[in-house]
Amino acid sequence: MGIGGLATLGVVAGCADTAPSSVSEHETPPASGAEHAPSPEDTRPTADEAWQRLEEGNARFVSGSPLHPHQDAARRIAVAPHQAPYAFVLGCIDSRVPVETVFDQGVGDLFVGRNAAAILDDTVIGGIEFAVSGYQLPLVVIMGHTACGAVKATVDAVKANPAAPTAPGEILDIAQEILPAVKATAENPDDSAFVDAVVTTNTRHVADQLVKRSAIVAEAVKAGTLKIVASTYHLDTGQVERL
Ligand SMILES: [Zn+2]
Repeated sequence: MGIGGLATLGVVAGCADTAPSSVSEHETPPASGAEHAPSPEDTRPTADEAWQRLEEGNARFVSGSPLHPHQDAARRIAVAPHQAPYAFVLGCIDSRVPVETVFDQGVGDLFVGRNAAAILDDTVIGGIEFAVSGYQLPLVVIMGHTACGAVKATVDAVKANPAAPTAPGEILDIAQEILPAVKATAENPDDSAFVDAVVTTNTRHVADQLVKRSAIVAEAVKAGTLKIVASTYHLDTGQVERL
């Protein structure tokens, strides 16, 4: 499916505005009186600039001095006609890792995907492709987190039955996605340290797999217009560590 098809999909789904066909159409004009409206030149940052914006927001969150940008009525009105998010963040469903909050971002800033352990499936990849191809996105962040329950459950399932780990219902699908990372991580007698090590392995694995499983992502990375960043969110400090 080409960009046009993806744009149509967005309209049909009713979850995204029509993907702009050029950078100029991408730009969000500042709304009059909008305190946090982006200027046209900062709506299309490079990957490094996009990461820096996330890093600065995370630093504000860590220090307990968030600005809560882009969360007022003016911003909501400004981005209603079209959006120009500057990054896609794939995170975990964990209630302690709300993506916009930990990066101190607001409405219209980020595409966000969340599932248990920030893993890939076809619909997640499709969503990232939609963002990358339709919005010329410069940055995709895969964000695992310490003490991830989904990773711990998979580790426990492997311990209980190394040859054929099991899990109830569709949770098994999640465990099977995490399993390669469990097997690829060096054993550690410290259970929590091992879980965190598997999180790191898994997040890197997901970042690698995204490029391998998506021709659209691979082409953008090869062209130098897109970077994939693997990261870990630390539950205790609130810091997002780039891997
Ligand atoms: Zn988690």
